[in-house]
Amino acid sequence: MYDERVQGKASEPEYPVLEVNLSKMEYNLKKVVSICRENGIDVAWVVKGFHALLPVMELFRGSGCKFLASSRLTHLERAREQGLTGPFLLIRIPMLSEIPRLVRFVEYSLNSEPAVIRRIQEEAERQGTLHQVILMADLGDLREGFWEESRLIETAVWIENCLPNVKLAGVGTNLGCYGSVKATPEKMEALIAIAERVEERIGRRLEIISGGSTTSFPMVMNGNMPPRVNHLRIGEQIESAFTCADLGYFNDPEQAFFHQDAFVLKAEVIEVNEKPTYPVGELTVDCFGEVGTYQDRGIKKRALVGVGKVDYGYLDLMQPLEPGIKIIGASSDHTILEIEDCPREIKVGDLLSFSLTYSQIAMLTEAPLVRIEYVR
Ligand SMILES: *Cc1c(COP(=O)(O)O)cnc(C)c1O
Repeated sequence: MYDERVQGKASEPEYPVLEVNLSKMEYNLKKVVSICRENGIDVAWVVKGFHALLPVMELFRGSGCKFLASSRLTHLERAREQGLTGPFLLIRIPMLSEIPRLVRFVEYSLNSEPAVIRRIQEEAERQGTLHQVILMADLGDLREGFWEESRLIETAVWIENCLPNVKLAGVGTNLGCYGSVKATPEKMEALIAIAERVEERIGRRLEIISGGSTTSFPMVMNGNMPPRVNHLRIGEQIESAFTCADLGYFNDPEQAFFHQDAFVLKAEVIEVNEKPTYPVGELTVDCFGEVGTYQDRGIKKRALVGVGKVDYGYLDLMQPLEPGIKIIGASSDHTILEIEDCPREIKVGDLLSFSLTYSQIAMLTEAPLVRIEYVR
């Protein structure tokens, strides 16, 4: 193995690799779309978590979803330029500075600022087009959205009556992003009540009631999503299926049948050693300004792999896929593993795989020194 590597050809694989399993992803996509369809819900697939990688976006587009969505306008612009069909939805409140591009490339956006909507009207008029908006209500998670319901309703009426190039497509909300507020049927009923008050004032039914993200999806699976919610913006469920399965959102654990390893990190072992578990010397801060916590558990067998925080951000709940291997720490370019209980002998040059969560996938898909490999 060692010799092969030294004499290797130009096509020699280089590590770390982020392996993307398109079949597993497709299974997850179809499952979510069909469950949502049965419940009268259109899916907007959110591509921000994997930086709009084209092969993945193509799968998303082909899955029967209604919209492709991202918080980054650049992702949607790229999707359009690469020939994917819309409609596209921008899910971060547009910046004033990006409105000309927004109106040119994207049909729908989430909004909460009258000043932004006014600029959208001016730009859409200039470009001779129509842009559709979903007004966001903040139901307590305290990120984006109108806080006072009356202001949301007045803005809706203003769009409806005064802005010919802006169409009010509906209302929406976001939960579980800043305030850790849980998406519940009660929150959904509150959103529906706002939608109905808007409908009363404008005298027509709204096309979209957008009930949130992956964290709202368990309600659909558990059968307690109020029927008027007809739109969800989902990303994480497909990438790691982590939120729903591991955080216990489902009533019935049997429902957590999604593949959780559509993205896997593969890294190469660069050192195997027996070392103490407690550092030797006076302790000070590490290169991230933190003092580690260590427990003296005697001498243990460990391995180092050549990937680190500069590639994946924080360890969070990243897990080795092989039994008997534990992550005990990481620095910029190294991840340190305890392999004492691993049933096989781990050697320098071996490849080890790790399951990932949302934040690591988001970092790894844009990490310049990580190779992305698609498998089926
Ligand atoms: C990121 C985001 C989503 C998607 O969240 P997931 O957890 O990836 O499903 C939906 N809506 C908004 C406004 C977002 O910012």
